[in-house]
Amino acid sequence: MSKPVIAIVGRPNVGKSTIFNRLAGERIAIVEDKPGVTRDRIYSTGEWLTHSFHLIDTGGIEIDVENEILMLIRQQAELAIDEADVIIFMVDGKVGLTEQDKEIANILHRSKKPVVVAVNKIDNIKMQQEIYDFYALGFGDPYPISGAHGTGLGDLLDEVVSHFPDEEEENYDDDVIRVALIGRPNVGKSSLVNAILGEERVIVSNVAGTTRDAVDTLFSTDEQDYVLVDTAGMRKKGKVYETTEKYSVLRALKAIENADVVLVVIDGHSGVIEQDKRIAGYAHEAGKASIFVVNKWDIVEKDDKTMHQFAQKIRDHFLFMSYAPIVFVSAKTKQRVNQILPMVNEVAESHAMRVQTPVLNDIISDAVAINPPPSDKGKRLKIKYATQVAVKPPTFVLFVNDPELMHFSYERYLENKIRDSFHFEGTPIRILVRKKN
Ligand code: GDP
Ligand code: GDP
Repeated sequence: MSKPVIAIVGRPNVGKSTIFNRLAGERIAIVEDKPGVTRDRIYSTGEWLTHSFHLIDTGGIEIDVENEILMLIRQQAELAIDEADVIIFMVDGKVGLTEQDKEIANILHRSKKPVVVAVNKIDNIKMQQEIYDFYALGFGDPYPISGAHGTGLGDLLDEVVSHFPDEEEENYDDDVIRVALIGRPNVGKSSLVNAILGEERVIVSNVAGTTRDAVDTLFSTDEQDYVLVDTAGMRKKGKVYETTEKYSVLRALKAIENADVVLVVIDGHSGVIEQDKRIAGYAHEAGKASIFVVNKWDIVEKDDKTMHQFAQKIRDHFLFMSYAPIVFVSAKTKQRVNQILPMVNEVAESHAMRVQTPVLNDIISDAVAINPPPSDKGKRLKIKYATQVAVKPPTFVLFVNDPELMHFSYERYLENKIRDSFHFEGTPIRILVRKKN
């Protein structure tokens, strides 16, 4: 279940980014922080009581047309309506109700999303009466807040979380493989979805609509059932804000959260760019199985070395994901598209694999015998026992005499041994080192 999304909407200068910064917990690392450009920090996660959520500051939309403030506001509202579960509509209590506020209200009223009005800059008790005008917006009680002092946020958040959708249990069988396609705009995700679903042996059984935005597609082959997560996002095209790359990130994050296997789609024609790395990095950090799908291979000028060179480039760029297999495809000509699902099966199997403890311990003992842990100031690391504690991703605990003695490079060595022995293709694995006397 992915976290609910809160979007903050409002005309410029009402204090959206101030409030965003107050509500934001940990920043999502893949959104780059450029110094001085707070507007790049448009996503974060936050927490209130038992709820955690994603937060979008829609103020990050920039458009080229000068003075097109209405256009800007419209796009922000559109983004919020499409992406958010609850919208905080922020207005300025010092300035009072404006025409632009009414314009935003009109747009928001046309959607069915819950909207909570926050009247910002209510810096003292005397100003409380300024909120009454905002009843006219038609969204119920306005909540007075002050970004400057941080007041009123608790009541506002209580109201906001009360509108979060109920946790829906997704009743997919355990053996269904959940697949997400991620990648920057125009790499060919939608085309690939169509190509995969159009394969002869694939039967699309239904499209499971939930009360939330995400619409998943269920399909199967003779061997296996799959869910393609958030296919709605790939069909919903043509929104201007989607071309703003940073806003496509949130979709990717949510899709990754809901997936077992992530297809990291790369444009073979334009090559690997920084944004590809950030998106792939998130799949890695989230512990998902991954496959690099290099698309548009039909229009790449190539000789017998091109594929190898491109693969090498991927390995160089994605050092941390050396486990992920690579496939070169064309959604357009369907070349090798039929190899994708078999690869998905394979990496999903690794991702969910549980190994037997005695075998694991034999492998660790052999690895230690071949290459003993280095000693540190006369003390030597002793590995007493190893066991797998989780799947998806496979997670191992090594019980040792002193965790401080475990070095990164040795841990890497053991990880590789485990990987090679059990053939953990396509999945990250995690190693936890714990003390045991
Ligand atoms: P945004 O354009 O909606 O994101 O607005 P900002 O967060 O950039 O804030 C616009 C201006 O309002 C800044 O100068 C803030 O310091 C100021 N501001 C934000 N919150 C408050 C508040 O609660 N009280 C007062 N007096 N000023 C505030
Ligand atoms: P998305 O934004 O990642 O969903 O990308 P789309 O599926 O909308 O594709 C973007 C553009 O690339 C469209 O014009 C597609 O026709 C084109 N395209 C997608 N896959 C291929 C491919 O394999 N080969 C070629 N030549 N063009 C492709």
